[in-house]
Amino acid sequence: MEDCLFCKIIAGEISSNKIYEDEQCYAFYDIDPQAPAHFLVVPKAHIGSADELTEENAGVVAHIFLVIRKLAKDLGLENGYRIVNNCGKDGGQTVGHLHFHVLGKRCLAWPPG
Ligand code: AMP
Ligand code: ZN
Repeated sequence: MEDCLFCKIIAGEISSNKIYEDEQCYAFYDIDPQAPAHFLVVPKAHIGSADELTEENAGVVAHIFLVIRKLAKDLGLENGYRIVNNCGKDGGQTVGHLHFHVLGKRCLAWPPG
């Protein structure tokens, strides 16, 4: 997908602080962390947002959640963590490639602002 920041990161055209990758997904640290641990997990296939999921492409979401569980263990998030997906303008999405934020290592407030 042309002009997609996260597609360019996955392709290695823009550098990132990579944590993990496999054939389906790519994980890297957020450039503007909102918690002591803050990383993003994205599908390698371009999906614009959670609102673009279909029966055909949604399987990667289950895979990403299992990868998050593994990375949380590897990174020592034993006290818990938050998985966030911002979807669309009112959801606060700023990058148009589906991504899951994982935040941890601090106690997070609820509800969000
Ligand atoms: P969202 O607002 O949910 O679309 O999240 C986009 C996230 O991408 C934000 O938390 C940004 O800090 C993060 N971000 C933007 N550019 C980069 C980059 N080059 N490397 C890592 N994270 C980025
Ligand atoms: Zn993309």
